Amino acid sequence: MSNPSEPAVRVHGLTRVYQADGEPVRALSGVGATFDRGTFTAIMGPSGSGKSTLLQTAAGLDRPTEGSVWIGGTELNRLSETGLTELRRDRIGFVFQAFNLIGALTVAENILLPLKLAGARPDDAWINAVVERVGLGTRLTHRPSALSGGQQQRVAIARALAARPEVIFCDEPTGALDTNTAAEVLLLLRGIVDEHGQTVIMVTHDPVAASYADRVIVLADGHIVHDMPQPGAVRIAEHLATLGRRPSATTGALR
Ligand code: ADP
Ligand code: MG
Repeated sequence: MSNPSEPAVRVHGLTRVYQADGEPVRALSGVGATFDRGTFTAIMGPSGSGKSTLLQTAAGLDRPTEGSVWIGGTELNRLSETGLTELRRDRIGFVFQAFNLIGALTVAENILLPLKLAGARPDDAWINAVVERVGLGTRLTHRPSALSGGQQQRVAIARALAARPEVIFCDEPTGALDTNTAAEVLLLLRGIVDEHGQTVIMVTHDPVAASYADRVIVLADGHIVHDMPQPGAVRIAEHLATLGRRPSATTGALR
């Protein structure tokens, strides 16, 4: 399926122009980046800088206006809608700010739901390892409403991991959590990278959350303006503060 020496994800010349009230909005402008396997990357930047658009186009949830995305050796442009759906199902996991769990299902049923919908047989050893890793072994028969926010996000992460995807995309996964439960979730993401060699790409606006990553990419106006290995929360905050003072970042001017 995929060659381990290939990067997990590569984007090249990625441009996404939306039409809003007949006016073009250039959300991403020629973005290029390579994400190696077994690495944890944080994507940061001001609101409206294109973070979610980058995540969604890289994950095959949205098609770019121009440019290419590769997941392993597969170029997404070449896939049909069915091919893209299968790729998202089998090779990609998603975690969103709102946990998006199904309230009527138990924790175990939520975790297994994507596999069930796909008609795929769960790999029991892997599922057990995932449940143990997220620390929900004693909660499997509970409904999501009986869990804390941090526990619910851990269920969502377990669900994202269930099909043993090549890469997990997270959009503000700690955005709805308090500091302590956010730390739990970030340690979990760090752990699945370090212990299971997963690749994680996470959008966050929180420099502390980003400091758990191996690398921080900062977007402004649809461009990558910084790409830093392990900068630490203080340096990240400094870079973001500089960005706030750039006129182009605050006006959102089209380029
Ligand atoms: P971020 O996640 O960094 O806040 P987004 O990627 O959501 O930024 O948005 C980037 C830009 O694209 C913003 O100007 C936003 O208003 C615009 N945008 C995003 N999605 C749409 C859409 N579906 N239709 C029109 N404009 C959009
Ligand atoms: Mg966003």
